[in-house]
Amino acid sequence: MRVLFLSAEIDPLVKIGGLGDVAGSLPAALRQLAPARLGGEAMDVRVAVPFYPLLRQKLPNLPLIARVEIPRAGKMLEAQIYQIDLNSVPVYLIAGQPVDSSNAVYTGDNSVDGDKFYFYSLAALELVRKLDWRPHILHANDWHTAPAAWALNRRRKTDAFFKDTRIILGVHNLPFMGAGCEGSLEDYGLPPSYSRRLPSWGRRVPLPLGLLAADQIVAVSPSYADEILTPEQGYGLESLLLARRADVSGILNGIDTKYWDPSQDQAIAARFSVDDLSPRAKNRRALLDEFQLNPDPAIPLLTLVSRMDVQKGVDLALEGLRLAKKSIWQVILLGSGNPDLEKDCLELQKKLPERVRVVTRFDAQLSRRMYAGGDLLLMPSRYEPCGLSQMIAMRYGCVPLARATGGLVDTVFDRPDAAESTGFLFKEPSGRAMAKALEQAVRIFGDAETWKVIQANGMRRDYSWENSALRYAHLYFMSSGIPINGEEQEERP
Ligand code: ADP
Repeated sequence: MRVLFLSAEIDPLVKIGGLGDVAGSLPAALRQLAPARLGGEAMDVRVAVPFYPLLRQKLPNLPLIARVEIPRAGKMLEAQIYQIDLNSVPVYLIAGQPVDSSNAVYTGDNSVDGDKFYFYSLAALELVRKLDWRPHILHANDWHTAPAAWALNRRRKTDAFFKDTRIILGVHNLPFMGAGCEGSLEDYGLPPSYSRRLPSWGRRVPLPLGLLAADQIVAVSPSYADEILTPEQGYGLESLLLARRADVSGILNGIDTKYWDPSQDQAIAARFSVDDLSPRAKNRRALLDEFQLNPDPAIPLLTLVSRMDVQKGVDLALEGLRLAKKSIWQVILLGSGNPDLEKDCLELQKKLPERVRVVTRFDAQLSRRMYAGGDLLLMPSRYEPCGLSQMIAMRYGCVPLARATGGLVDTVFDRPDAAESTGFLFKEPSGRAMAKALEQAVRIFGDAETWKVIQANGMRRDYSWENSALRYAHLYFMSSGIPINGEEQEERP
């Protein structure tokens, strides 16, 4: 099973958000699946990413493996392709003038980014032809690589090389569609869509075009797959997605369970596991001392580790904390991003100096100390395609208190019986609803035995990529009509 995986980011080379985590982990997890689990088939997954100038500086001596030419606005542009292997996954790095045009991965100006991502997406298709490596699957992700899906869907109708390549499009964050680079479509010789399934504003925009072209659309959690079919979260594409409902599914992201392992983590004061939670108290105490907070073990220590963004509901968290002032708690807020939200956090710290601490930077080491020492992680997201922080927190025994949306619903279980719970969920996106859930959590925190059960439930769950990789593999086989386990796959619609 040959899979060409396209992503604008790949951890650890270049990571801005969750997309980088997925591209860094999923291809390796797919290649590691034992052929015995796939009816004897092996997975040959290869990744292509842009060779951003910042990456070229870091990796100056990679072998050049190919050159291809891409037509743009009547001229031919050359792409140079280099290769590096990451965890035994071949990664093709695509360089060329449009990729060199800016230093940032995302400039915020889609007319600049569009030129870069169209060029790279089309060069990735030319590359596999040059290598005579015929993919069964093109797995594109988000708007940056959707042009490859749109181009391939046309090409495979007449081009024998791509005739049998099936297209999967991963949706990590639907509202980011690539609007603003409509000119690139024409520059690279691609037609707009005339399909009435697409709203007129979407007929030259990469993500809508990709969604139209893909054989299968995969959201990063089952709940998010349902939510993008609704007017609230479909951002004008819900009709298209509803019409394609049979081809829309959700597969949860995993986390790197070696990287996030409280029994091995050298960044924390004491290592621990679900078999013996007692060393965890040392981490808690160290964190409270670091922030000069009250060391009383009866006061729950709340944490927030998040981009400062309206999507993440940081404003809801602040309002919830204000409203739950009468409950006992202390909180450490870690995050950077929206300056207004950062300012609001600092204001709460000023108002409640004895119980609020704020750190407005990206600090991976501190985040580890917080996961390992905090009692609760606040994650009141307005929407959350999958979310990783809640899974990391649970693995470290820090109980999530989250809004019931997207991947949070699929990973945080709030049941009437604590024996089945891993955290706390609230529905309404309001400070009041968060405050109510927080008051309830604080009450349960007072019952140490019950609290331990909830912690242990979260720690015992399997967050590894293996399960998800197996699901993706099945989808690839199903989509390309290749039987595995000796069974014929379902007919493609
Ligand atoms: P998103 O990708 O939408 O930002 P996720 O929950 O999927 O949200 O992933 C967030 C990741 O970024 C987690 O690994 C979290 O620990 C980390 N993170 C977010 N903000 C910070 C910060 N200020 N310092 C350190 N790590 C952070």
